[in-house]
Amino acid sequence: MTITDTHTHLYSEAFDEDRDEMIKRALDAGVSRFFIPAIDSSYSKGMLDLEKKYPENIFLMSGLHPTHVKENYKEELAFVEEELSRRRYYAVGEIGIDLYWDKSTLGIQQEAFRQQIRLAKQHKLPIVIHCREAFEKVFEVLESEKGENLYGIFHCFTGTLKQAQQALSYNMKLGIGGVVTFKNGKIDRFLKEIPLSEIVLETDAPYLAPSPYRGKRNESLYVKNVLEKVAGIYHISEEKIAEITTQNSKDIFSV
Ligand SMILES: [Zn+2]
Repeated sequence: MTITDTHTHLYSEAFDEDRDEMIKRALDAGVSRFFIPAIDSSYSKGMLDLEKKYPENIFLMSGLHPTHVKENYKEELAFVEEELSRRRYYAVGEIGIDLYWDKSTLGIQQEAFRQQIRLAKQHKLPIVIHCREAFEKVFEVLESEKGENLYGIFHCFTGTLKQAQQALSYNMKLGIGGVVTFKNGKIDRFLKEIPLSEIVLETDAPYLAPSPYRGKRNESLYVKNVLEKVAGIYHISEEKIAEITTQNSKDIFSV
């Protein structure tokens, strides 16, 4: 069984003490494809080092995370642009809008989001969207940028069925993570109405650990807990869900 974690911050300082053991635990359990979203240029070296060490398993994205859109965002966007021209990345991400941490930067977050969508189109890459308390604003940008060359993943999807359907209408697949296992996570109630061809699995490690690890450090191995829950919701075997969602990840990232 090959399981794909489409969103994991393996370079995070949360793993500095035991990164290789943590990755080995995942690999031993069949979690062997890791898609690594960027945050800002300061994490670039850590990401490239990981790729060097696990070239068969690690697939990097380039992008500026919305909570890191600050005064220097133009320099950061120039860095993303340079990286995308310099070598292969598998997506532009994670990008989007976050109004939970800081509402005052909304204007430049929208600007950075739009510019990065255009970079993705230019390089024929998918986008990986981060959206927190900002569905309306994210949809506004997607509405004005939609088209055949816009596609990707709505990472850590936590909205309603209606919002899910709107996300799908922009060629986005839904990234399903730990929230699906939470008692009050809500998405487990309607997920079955979303065709399996439209979802991928993720952890967002080290954040958002699924139950029974909720509140603790998350790691890629725990994508198995997400897999188990999703298999229960669709009444389909874990093997089949792993196969379908891995294929979906191949379709999106072309690898
Ligand atoms: Zn993330």
